[in-house]
Amino acid sequence: METTPAAGKEFGLSYEFFPPKSEEMDAQLWQTVEQLSVFQPDFVSVTYGAGGSTKAPTLATVGRMISDARLSTASHLTCVDASREEVKAVVEELRAAGVRRIVALRGDPAAGIGAEYTPHPDGFSDTAQLVEMLLAYGDFDVSVSAYPEKHPESRDIFADIDTLKRKADAGATRALTQFFFDNDVFETYLEKVRAAGITIPVVPGIMPIQNLTQLKRFAGRCGSTVPSFLDARFEGYDDKPEERAEVAADVAAEQIEDLMRRGLDDFHLYTMNRAPLVTAVLERLGRKPVRKVGAAA
Ligand code: FAD
Repeated sequence: METTPAAGKEFGLSYEFFPPKSEEMDAQLWQTVEQLSVFQPDFVSVTYGAGGSTKAPTLATVGRMISDARLSTASHLTCVDASREEVKAVVEELRAAGVRRIVALRGDPAAGIGAEYTPHPDGFSDTAQLVEMLLAYGDFDVSVSAYPEKHPESRDIFADIDTLKRKADAGATRALTQFFFDNDVFETYLEKVRAAGITIPVVPGIMPIQNLTQLKRFAGRCGSTVPSFLDARFEGYDDKPEERAEVAADVAAEQIEDLMRRGLDDFHLYTMNRAPLVTAVLERLGRKPVRKVGAAA
């Protein structure tokens, strides 16, 4: 393994996890958390299943991240298919569990990505309203989403950036982006975001590629393009998992390094609840663990 030329440069780091769906996944998650927390992320986040379907596991996972793993933890929270009172009740539970960070989202309707979104009759009409409600509590750090290739439902990139502006104007602290692989596309997007007067940090979401075939299956629905250069990078490695993992770590580390050259210094890593690939990416970037895995924090 070679480190990149940017190795050792300091950068902000956050990880995204999802709540486990089985005992086996639960064990894997906590092992992953132990292995990745040695790289001292600024915060971690835990997703909230479509339409609140993982409310209980999300709350349990967030609570344990805070109390056991002692990580500054953001709970994702969606407002789709829920009344204001229902969303507020979840917020109260999160506060009681010591959560002070929230990733505020509209979310997808229960019928799935692509189904038409209709606000709940007693709910929030858009994410900006949810952000306003959260900030009325006074003690939440609120992140929102951003889509460098536009959200699939957005008319065009300008409509998408208008949505981001409303969320930023409502008081969001930062935007975490959907994953993307073409840094030129991201840079052009960021120029448009800044031209629209949005000044909050837009933190690139980086997806280390665990499996290119699976990624292609869901990327389109998320509004992310999988460029053809990735086919070329992974060609011939289908039956060579070790080499494939090396390529995957190289690709993600090179993407981050290139973004650093373009002036970015904060990154949100989609971990898929697995440590080895993310660890390999961070090692290539020269990120030093602050302690040995398993040593007390
Ligand atoms: P917004 O940014 O509020 O809106 C997205 C776009 O849809 C806007 O640009 C706008 O143009 C358009 N739009 C919004 N409202 C309307 C409307 N009423 N009519 C027409 N167009 C409209 N999903 C989950 O279920 N759980 C999660 O934990 C989760 N975490 C995520 C984390 C990140 C960093 C990202 C990028 C996405 C995440 N998602 C999650 C996915 C997200 O819920 C979906 O992409 C959803 O479709 C949009 O929610 P949003 O908050 O991003 O929408």
